[in-house]
Amino acid sequence: MANLEYKICKTCRENKHHSEYYIYKGIYVFPNCKACTSKKDKENHKKEVEKKGGSEFVHSTPGVFACPIQKQNTFKILKSLGYQLNEEKNIWWKPGVKEIVDGKPVFLKLRKGPGKDKLKLIKKILQLYKSGMTGKKIATKVNLSATTVYKIIRENEESHKDSGSSNS
Ligand SMILES: [Zn+2]
Repeated sequence: MANLEYKICKTCRENKHHSEYYIYKGIYVFPNCKACTSKKDKENHKKEVEKKGGSEFVHSTPGVFACPIQKQNTFKILKSLGYQLNEEKNIWWKPGVKEIVDGKPVFLKLRKGPGKDKLKLIKKILQLYKSGMTGKKIATKVNLSATTVYKIIRENEESHKDSGSSNS
């Protein structure tokens, strides 16, 4: 006699009660049992992580570590390179190299073709500087270190002098 409350799982081939399956809209009983479904989900997740360049041991998401030792080593290396962790934003930053502007990391290699946002920032800094604000005050206003602000002012004043004659 067939018991309608039971079903054979497509994967593990075990005869299991309907409560061990996910049921769609109270009617459709999924072909795989809950245990097999979660196993497959885990495998799929692992594949997804690997596709994004991570693995079970090295996560592609910053701030996610496989074990405390990996975390410890990562912190050691980044700190030895002069980076500091902004724990609130979970962003590693380094004064004058990579700073956090409006909650987003910005790389400050300004000499090599700055992007739109960086240009905007440079313009703002120069404007404030021309209006008589000190580098220190500008730094607090734009959320950068004073060193970086002075560097930007210095470099862009130089580049104004450089582009005195047209060179095309
Ligand atoms: Zn199963």
